[in-house]
Amino acid sequence: MTEPRTEVPPLDCRTKALFLDFDGTLVDIAPTPDAVIIPADLGSLLARLNTALGGALAIVSGRSLNELESFLRGFDGIMVGSHGSEARGMTPPLDRLPEGLESAQTEMRDYATSRGLLYEHKSMGGAIHFRALPDAGPEVEAFIERLAITNPRFEVQPAKMAFELRPAGFSKDGALQILSDQPDFRNRSPIYIGDDTTDEPALAWAETHGGFGIKVGDGKTRASQHLPDPAAVLDWLRAGLEH
Ligand SMILES: [Mg+2]
Repeated sequence: MTEPRTEVPPLDCRTKALFLDFDGTLVDIAPTPDAVIIPADLGSLLARLNTALGGALAIVSGRSLNELESFLRGFDGIMVGSHGSEARGMTPPLDRLPEGLESAQTEMRDYATSRGLLYEHKSMGGAIHFRALPDAGPEVEAFIERLAITNPRFEVQPAKMAFELRPAGFSKDGALQILSDQPDFRNRSPIYIGDDTTDEPALAWAETHGGFGIKVGDGKTRASQHLPDPAAVLDWLRAGLEH
C-alpha cells in the first residue's frame, strides 16, 4: 500500500467540475460485475453534489449506460457510459451502434463459454473476465486482439482481470474534453477520480487542464493526488458538501 503523497485538497463546489469513475472508485470491485454493492445513499449523495456543483458533475465509466442508471437511482445528472461512446444528459458522442457489434459479441460469448470464462455483455461491446482462470490472461488478450484486427471499428481495452472490446475512437478523456465545453462545466477546473488503467488518460487530462486527478488505490499513475479506496472517496465527497 502506498501512502498518500499529499492530503487531497478539499472539494470546492463553487469552482470545480467533478468527473467520477464508477467501479473501484465509488464502489468496491466485486468478483463479478453485477455483484457490486451500492451504498444506500450513493444516488442521493451524487444528487446533492450535483446541485452544489451547479450541474458540473459527471459519472464517466466503462459500464453501459443502462447499468449505471440502475446502480445510481436518485441521481439524474450527466452519465457517460461505455468509455465515452454513450451518454445521458449531453449530446451523445455516438448515436448508432458500431457495425459488426452483434457478431463480435456472439464470438466473445462463444469463446468465453468454451473456456469457462465470464462474458460480460455491454451495450457497445463486451468483456471477457479471467479472474476465475488467472493464467488465461494472455490467451484472452490474443483472442480479443484478433477480434479487434478483424473489426476495425473496435479496439482492445485492458481492464482488471479482463479484456474488453469497445468502439474505437472514444475515450474517457475525449468525453471530458466534450463535457468541459458544456455551459455548466465551463470556467471550472476539472477533478477526475478513477482507479484503473482505463482512467489514466482522463487523470492526465485533468492534470493538464488546470485541475488534478485522484488515483484510487495502488499503481503507477499520472494523477498528483491519491485516495486508498472507494470508502475514502465517499468520505472526501461528503466532506466537500460540507466545505
Ligand atoms: Mg474503475
